[in-house]
Amino acid sequence: MKTLKIKHSYAEKIKKGYPLISKESVLSTDSHITEGALIELYDENGGFLGKGYYGEQNKGIGWVLTKKREESIDANFFLSRLAKAFQERETLFQDAETTAFRLFNGEGDGIGGFTIDYYDGYFLIQWYSKGIYTFKDLIISALDELADYKAVYEKKRFNTAGQYVEDDDFVKGTRGEFPIIVKENGMHFAVYLNDGAMTGVFLDQRHVRKTIRDRYAEGKTVLNTFSYTGAFSIAAALGGARKTTSVDVANRSLSKTIEQFSVNGLDYEAHDIKVMDVFKYFQYAAKKQFSFDLVILDPPSFARTKKHTFSAAKDYKNLLKETIQITKDQGVIVASTNSSAFGMKKFKGFIEAACKETGTSYTILEEHSLPEDFQTIKSYPEGNYLKVVFLRIQRR
Ligand code: SAH
Repeated sequence: MKTLKIKHSYAEKIKKGYPLISKESVLSTDSHITEGALIELYDENGGFLGKGYYGEQNKGIGWVLTKKREESIDANFFLSRLAKAFQERETLFQDAETTAFRLFNGEGDGIGGFTIDYYDGYFLIQWYSKGIYTFKDLIISALDELADYKAVYEKKRFNTAGQYVEDDDFVKGTRGEFPIIVKENGMHFAVYLNDGAMTGVFLDQRHVRKTIRDRYAEGKTVLNTFSYTGAFSIAAALGGARKTTSVDVANRSLSKTIEQFSVNGLDYEAHDIKVMDVFKYFQYAAKKQFSFDLVILDPPSFARTKKHTFSAAKDYKNLLKETIQITKDQGVIVASTNSSAFGMKKFKGFIEAACKETGTSYTILEEHSLPEDFQTIKSYPEGNYLKVVFLRIQRR
């Protein structure tokens, strides 16, 4: 086994359970280390810290797998971690109204570098480094042992930016006919497992969609920005919204959103679906003096269009300021971000500043983070990336 000597300050963190091995943390190595190599970590005094594997990804160069010297990283190791994760999702497996959720959430479930999502009998594995991919056979064998499935699909997000590598994503089983229709708290979503990086629905927003449907949508006019396939619009429409408007710059979003409305038995023609840059839409809406009861803001952490580079860390405050202008007095804004570059405190700071600068008072109605199936660990707060704040605004 290869060894890594870890700098003192990082060693202290690892002792407390921090699972990520960062490039900066390494003082020295005994030799060249290749992707997927098992490694032993030692502190500067030669004290044993743990075992892990080497795998370069956007976040670091590998993950700690165990702090127990006697534990081997073998078929049994993968089986035990997966078995525990499956067991912890038992309630979701039993829930007839929800057939899509996260089954294994990387470091949150004990092995950083890959995730497994469940879509109505199909497994979708996302690999975040070539290193973890070298353990593919062990992980698939563990899946074979634990569950019956229709098929396994995968997304390779190898390169250091975590970008998806275009490929045939089928791994084994019986190929699916897509879209498959999954359920989430009784809502339906059309899902594609072999059509690019994204599947049609982001599973980490399950509780937020249900909240919007059950408690915020009835009788309301709803604007859903960065709407992708319109999943939040579907939730709002099913919750009795008077009308929804979905805005996304990607051409695919029109047909994808129509499809999601249709699989829920909703008339998409009673709703607006705009293929448009959100920032342009804000100008257009302000000019037309539109204003909405409920506005959903869920931008990507980072996006580049021809005109704009958007980064949540830099631009969220301004996005909120523009949103406030087209939200009714007493209206609600659902401010969401999946950026791991900042935490809840800073996010609330953006909300505070945007309201202050527009002379708006606000009340925070509720907050959400990742759902329970997106298991996280306290020692790795970066893993708890999702922040959603429902706020009511009062114009002065
Ligand atoms: N809120 C969605 C997920 C958003 S994914 C959901 O819950 O399902 C991010 C989306 O933002 C992508 O579909 C992308 O096309 C869109 N996007 C990125 N920049 C944009 C911009 N400037 N204007 C409109 N849409 C944009």
